[in-house]
Amino acid sequence: MPVKNRFAELQNEITEWRRDIHENPEILFETHRTSALVAEKLQEFGCDEIVTGIGRTGVVGVIKGKSDTAGKVIGLRADMDALPIHEATGLEYASKTDGAMHACGHDGHTAMLLGAAKYLSETRNFDGTVVVIFQPAEEGGGGGKEMCDDGMMERWNIQEVYGMHNWPGRPVGSFAIRPGAFFAATDTFDITLEGRGGHAAKPHDTVDTTVMAAQTVLALQTIASRNADPVDQVVVSVTSFETSSKAFNVIPQTVQIKGTVRTMSKEMRDLAETRIKEICNGIAATFGGTADINYMRGYPVMVNTEEQTEFAAKVARDVSGSCDDAPLVMGGEDFAYMLEERPGAYILVGNGDTAMVHHPEYNFDDNAIPAGCSWWAEIVEQRMPAA
Ligand SMILES: [Zn+2]
Ligand SMILES: [Zn+2]
Repeated sequence: MPVKNRFAELQNEITEWRRDIHENPEILFETHRTSALVAEKLQEFGCDEIVTGIGRTGVVGVIKGKSDTAGKVIGLRADMDALPIHEATGLEYASKTDGAMHACGHDGHTAMLLGAAKYLSETRNFDGTVVVIFQPAEEGGGGGKEMCDDGMMERWNIQEVYGMHNWPGRPVGSFAIRPGAFFAATDTFDITLEGRGGHAAKPHDTVDTTVMAAQTVLALQTIASRNADPVDQVVVSVTSFETSSKAFNVIPQTVQIKGTVRTMSKEMRDLAETRIKEICNGIAATFGGTADINYMRGYPVMVNTEEQTEFAAKVARDVSGSCDDAPLVMGGEDFAYMLEERPGAYILVGNGDTAMVHHPEYNFDDNAIPAGCSWWAEIVEQRMPAA
């Protein structure tokens, strides 16, 4: 069973929606135009219920099947937000907003889920209910979490959730997935080390914070090399190191260190946080200074559940002939919050040989639309076969 014919017919229309969204990117929760467009389209398709304002600017649409004997409800989720990047594609439908760009392909995700919603509203060839979820603020804002916090799962009795992301470097329309931990937990830290500043020619009268901070940066690397089990994944990257004085002859009073931590399990995440605190406090004490540590937890590990992943891979094989094993991704994904609340799966769909996501020359490939839409539709029709 290849892609559905209906999506080959709809491809031009869906491409138009995608390019319109691409031309009008909106960042984080500011997806007002996009959300309004989504709600308007869902209305046009004849969805049974459309609710805006879930998770601030999120939109939810409900589509009922021909029958509902088993009471099943499946959630399909797309993200709508763009990035604060200046677009450099030179496309005729390039961003009209300076400093905002759909550089992660969420324009494609939104358009594909709209395409699936149109088809599912036309055909209704399933037994149960589909909830299409359009979330804002995937790029660091936690829009998915806010939709969950607004009680979305309970309100519509959603039992399973599915998500998709385009992936540059994979053949267009091909699929890849993995069960279990898939995308990393993304935490950040902001540490201020304090010694006693003074004259650079009289180090014995100071507590040299720069030396303390340098030791700290090196010691933080031992979390991955000495504390973590070598078969587990952890990244600790110091990305900013700033002394309070920029002079040649001053030993600074404070040094601020910032960075990020990526982990693939709750245990490793806890270990990294604990060791960062121990290392910073321990080294500061050794040198006679202090450490003020702010460890900020971001998105949790995104975990695909076994059964739903197997099913999602089978559907992908039906649509495009094969489904590859995806590698671990050390980036984060806000869909993790939805997968914490309900079983489900997140799949990658190939975007071809393009610039990587978050690059100013990236663009979503509209040729992925028939495969992406077909996967959504088949998830529904196979998981909730018409009675
Ligand atoms: Zn992104
Ligand atoms: Zn993305």
